[in-house]
Amino acid sequence: MGPEAYGFLDCCEDTVLETVRTLYSSGHGSEAVMRCSTCGAYWFHRMHEMVLFGSDQPDEMVEWFSRITDVEAQMIMFSKVRPNLTYLTSRLSFRRDERGVQRSQGQPATPLW
Ligand SMILES: [Zn+2]
Repeated sequence: MGPEAYGFLDCCEDTVLETVRTLYSSGHGSEAVMRCSTCGAYWFHRMHEMVLFGSDQPDEMVEWFSRITDVEAQMIMFSKVRPNLTYLTSRLSFRRDERGVQRSQGQPATPLW
């Protein structure tokens, strides 16, 4: 995925995201703290793969990007247990799927286990 793939994110004029900590990753999704290498802003990224059982359609990927503060990012990165992420459910976010990017009122706080 090239840098242009993040042009919809608004931390700065030239968002380039790097994963700094993966919290969870499976065949059905992932959770990660990402950081913009241009401006240093942190983003919480979630990907869910919606498996459409019994369908000929390909699985649908949904992603969310939520801005998190430096303090929130540190809390997630250095937490020894699974951090409480419920604040993400009411954090204005971006949601991307095959139809495009939309604003979202929040993102899920847990993976599709
Ligand atoms: Zn940025």
